[in-house]
Amino acid sequence: MVDSVADVVVVGAGIVGLSHAVEAVHRGLSVHIVERDAEPVGASVRNFGHACITAQGPELLALAQVSRRGWMRAAARCGFWAPESGALMLARNGAEAAVLEEFREERGAEAVRLLSAEQTRARLGGADRSPDPDIVAGAVFPADFRVDPRSTVIAIARWLAEQPGVVFHWRTAALGCADGVVYTGRGPVRGRRILVCVGHDLDRLYPVTAEEHEVIRCRLQMALVAAPADYQHDGAVLTGTSMLRYGGMAGLPSAALVRAELDRDHPELMEIAANLMFARRPDGTVLVGDSHHYGLTATPFDDESVTERLLAGAAHILGVPGLQVLQRWQGVYASSARTDILRETHDATVSSVTVTTGLGMTLSFGLAAQTFDAL
Ligand SMILES: Cc1cc2nc3c(=O)[nH]c(=O)nc-3n(C[C@H](O)[C@H](O)[C@H](O)COP(=O)(O)OP(=O)(O)OC[C@H]3O[C@@H](n4cnc5c(N)ncnc54)[C@H](O)[C@@H]3O)c2cc1C
Repeated sequence: MVDSVADVVVVGAGIVGLSHAVEAVHRGLSVHIVERDAEPVGASVRNFGHACITAQGPELLALAQVSRRGWMRAAARCGFWAPESGALMLARNGAEAAVLEEFREERGAEAVRLLSAEQTRARLGGADRSPDPDIVAGAVFPADFRVDPRSTVIAIARWLAEQPGVVFHWRTAALGCADGVVYTGRGPVRGRRILVCVGHDLDRLYPVTAEEHEVIRCRLQMALVAAPADYQHDGAVLTGTSMLRYGGMAGLPSAALVRAELDRDHPELMEIAANLMFARRPDGTVLVGDSHHYGLTATPFDDESVTERLLAGAAHILGVPGLQVLQRWQGVYASSARTDILRETHDATVSSVTVTTGLGMTLSFGLAAQTFDAL
């Protein structure tokens, strides 16, 4: 173990921990990062890499916009793929089209660029494919962007490792933190400030905090598929189920009808609390998801019928009979019905930062700026 006292010790090398480490470096601070695994394998590499800026409600929109700036600065420094592709939101019935129009009224035509059915389908289609005939309209959210979750977190960690004053402690589990010390199986790691960013495993270190804030686990099923060769859209593609999930649209009066229509027409998706969406990776493969199941513990057993419903939905939108699955996995994130962001002070030197909704990629760099502004 290194004997020196770092300005900051970050526990957890997911996107929340790493964005805090990047912010620490930006502010000229030394930082040690303690990660129990040999590389990041948590929620931060298992997601869509969709920076969902536009669809945030009033509570999170400003934070998401600050985060966007932090992401762009990090992309320039660390050299990872971050196309400013916008997101494509599909409307497949009148109720969903009404939500897009109402959202455009509220946010303005620059933030929510409405598309005709033909324009929407053109973004999805190819020479031999005809995308979902039910598409009646669409919208582009230009402020949204993408990263490739798997390579991004690795690229940030690599960049950090080259910076003066940064030390990684991989394969080193934090067993507890107090008074400027992170106790690990390899000995103590000391810092003036300790930031615990362990995602859904907050309850392993701070069970009482997790219980007080009703933090549980949300388990999501995902698949990686071979895309139709002519599918080139880098932005995330979102559907009516997404309108019910993100605060900016879910709170609109017209969203109630979307829910009623989905309940009637797509009970198979509503039963699994689906956010049916997909996103292309830079190698051309496509991430398809996702379902939401909540509990204190995430069962390791995936239900194939859940993944099949998501794959069928994505294939229908893309206008192909089926999608060749290359990989399946589950992701888990922290979830709380009481708050989207849980900040807790454990003693004068130790605090934790946990995103308790499925927005950690979007918000991480904004949270990191907030954390250091408040120190
Ligand atoms: C399937 C899926 C899709 C998603 N899609 C999106 C999306 O498109 N956009 C978006 O904004 N968000 C999305 N999210 C949410 C986002 O991925 C998470 O909110 C975010 O990755 C959480 O980051 P984190 O760093 O807190 O957690 P994690 O990435 O889980 O990292 C926590 C790290 O802490 C380490 N750790 C835990 N305990 C210890 C310990 N005791 N000692 C040392 N290390 C420890 C773990 O090994 C892990 O590396 C999605 C999530 C999932 C699962």
